[in-house]
Amino acid sequence: MFASACGAAARALTWVDRDNRETMNEHIPFGKPAIVGRELEYIAQAIAQGTIAGGGPFMKRCEAWLEEALPARRALLAHSCTAALEMAAILSGVGPGDEVIMPSFTFSAPATAFVLRGATPVFVDIRADTLNIDETLIEAAITPRTRAIVPVHYAGLACEMDPILAIAERHGLLVIEDAAQAHLSHYKGRPLGTLGHMGCLSFHETKNIVSGEGGALLINDPRFFDRAEIIREKGTDRSRFFRGQVDKYTWQDIGSSYCPGEIVSAFLYAQFEHADAICIRRRALYDQYRAGLAGLAAIAIPNATGAEANGHIFWLLLRDEPTRARLIAHLAGENINAVFHYVPLHSAPAGLRFGRVAGEALPVTEGVSARLLRLPLYLEMTDADVARVVASVGRFFGRNA
Ligand SMILES: *Cc1c(COP(=O)(O)O)cnc(C)c1O
Repeated sequence: MFASACGAAARALTWVDRDNRETMNEHIPFGKPAIVGRELEYIAQAIAQGTIAGGGPFMKRCEAWLEEALPARRALLAHSCTAALEMAAILSGVGPGDEVIMPSFTFSAPATAFVLRGATPVFVDIRADTLNIDETLIEAAITPRTRAIVPVHYAGLACEMDPILAIAERHGLLVIEDAAQAHLSHYKGRPLGTLGHMGCLSFHETKNIVSGEGGALLINDPRFFDRAEIIREKGTDRSRFFRGQVDKYTWQDIGSSYCPGEIVSAFLYAQFEHADAICIRRRALYDQYRAGLAGLAAIAIPNATGAEANGHIFWLLLRDEPTRARLIAHLAGENINAVFHYVPLHSAPAGLRFGRVAGEALPVTEGVSARLLRLPLYLEMTDADVARVVASVGRFFGRNA
C-alpha cells in the first residue's frame, strides 16, 4: 500500500527533473534536509486539532506506519535516536559493572546511553570492508559481566546479523541495534532495527528521513512492550490511562520524557509518505558515485551497492591522513564540502574514562577513521552535482575529468 503511493509520489517530486540547471560554481554542501511533501500542511493540521503534546494522532500514525511499512512488531516514536537508545538501555536492565559490546568507530549516542546506566562500553574493532563491528571478534570480548551487544549499521549497511544473533543466543545476551543510519535498509530481506531484541532509528536532519530531531524504538521482544511505554512517559502508566485500561495514571517505574511533540510527528509523517522515493533517489546518487569513482586506484570505495545499503553515506578511503586533508582542501577550493567522520570512541576523552578496548588495540578502527572521507549526498543533489564532485576528486588524483 505504502510502496505504490510512494511510487506515484516519486514521479511527481520536483528534484528528479532538476539535473539541467546551471550548477558549475554553486556551493555543494555536505548535506541538506529537504521538505518533500505535506510537512507544513500537517503541522497546520496538528495545531488545528488542538493537541500538540506527545501521544497525539500524528505520533500514532507514524508508529502505525513503521509497524506496517517495515514491518516492525512495535514502534515507539521518541524525540531522538539517542532517547530510543536510552530507553533500550533502561529496558535491558544493565547496571554498574555490566559490560556492553559495541564498535568504537561510531557516534557517542550508543555508548552514552549505556554509560548513563553505569555500564561499561567494551569496544570491538570493525571489518575493513563494511566498517561495521567485526563479528569474528565479538566472542573473545565477552566476559561474565557482558549483558548486550550493540551492532551499529554504519552508512546504512547491515552488520553480519546472523552470526551476531547466534553469539548472543549462545551467551544469553541482548542485541540492541543502532539503526540510526539504517532506516529502510535490510539484512537478508529483513528490515534493520527489527532483527535484535530492540532497534533504534534516527530522524535527525542529517539522516535519510527527517524531522529535525526524532527517533524511534523498535521492540521485537514482547517482554519489553509494556515497560517501554511507562519509561517513555516519565515512569507513569499514562498510555494505559489514555487507552481506558486504568482509571487514573500513577508513577510506576523509572523513566524520562522521551515522546516527540505532535508538530515534529506531523513533519515526520509527511516524510514517511515519500519514504520510498527518498530512498530510491539517495541510492541512485550513491550508485552514481560508485560508478564514477570505481576506476580510481588511489582510493577505496564501498563494495556495497545503493540497493544493499540505503544511500545514507558515500565514503571513500584515502591512502593516509595528510592525503585526506589535502583532498578536503582541494574540494573546498571548488566549493564542495566533504567531511571526515568519527574520532573513535575509545580514544575520545569520555571513551577513555568510561569504556575499554577489547583485546590489545583496534587497528582497523584507527586506520579507517584517519583515512575516511564522506562526499556530499542529499536528496536535492542533482546528477550534475555528483558528476562535478566525481570530476573534482578525479582532478585531485590527476585523472582527466
Ligand atoms: C545519528 C546517530 C545517532 C543519534 O541519533 P539522534 O537522533 O541524533 O539522537 C546514534 N547513532 C548513530 C550511529 C548515528 O549516526
